[in-house]
Amino acid sequence: MIYLKTPEEIIKIKKAGQILAVTAKQILDLAQPGVKLKYLDTVAKNLIEKAGGEPAFLNYFPYGASKPYLCSLCTSVNDVVVHGTPGEYKLKNGDILKLDFGVRYDGYNADAAWTAPIGSVSPEAQKLIDTTREALNRGIKAAEAGRKLGDIGYAIESYTKSQGFKVIEGLTGHGIGKEIHEDPVVMNEGKRGTGLKLEPGLVIAIEPMISIGASRITQLPDDSYATADGSLSAHFEHTIAITESGTEILTEFDS
Ligand code: MG
Repeated sequence: MIYLKTPEEIIKIKKAGQILAVTAKQILDLAQPGVKLKYLDTVAKNLIEKAGGEPAFLNYFPYGASKPYLCSLCTSVNDVVVHGTPGEYKLKNGDILKLDFGVRYDGYNADAAWTAPIGSVSPEAQKLIDTTREALNRGIKAAEAGRKLGDIGYAIESYTKSQGFKVIEGLTGHGIGKEIHEDPVVMNEGKRGTGLKLEPGLVIAIEPMISIGASRITQLPDDSYATADGSLSAHFEHTIAITESGTEILTEFDS
């Protein structure tokens, strides 16, 4: 069931998204070699709560997980694609960190992710990060009222393939609003002109997850997902709203 949002609801999701973006900026600045992931989680929780939001992933029980999630951030390093738990691990020079989290404000959620190079990374890792960011940009550009959901997946998939990388199978974007995960499923692959028609009021999280090697994933004991062959992966995500006056990214800074 797809819930289209009113302009007032979109404003609340955007408020959540702005708390998220401001927090993310500070966490990404702190993510340096030698920093413990657990520390980033503690800082993020404090920043979100100080700004009047709630960490949306904290105590969330995702489909397919064995237990509720007990942190505010997901911090996934190198081959781990998503749902990495911020524990005792200290970031190292050359790592790539995927930071993914949600913020709830006044009953509405926003969700976004970034991938950051830690110190200096290999040219291939940097190309993967740049490609994934651009795949998200292209997905967002395709998300216009009147077009179809398949156009978003096509934009992401075709660009990813053109750069020699793979779209991760089995992980997708999603609708978002009162719930962190709502319908529709937003695939990172697709055929142009197919699927749900995009209309004003639709709010979705678009989130390409891309690998240098395998497109298959495997679930680790902490419920995180890593690439099946251990190859590097990257992830970028924004929550966007399709409105009468165009498509708006709700999880980036107002400039
Ligand atoms: Mg998401």
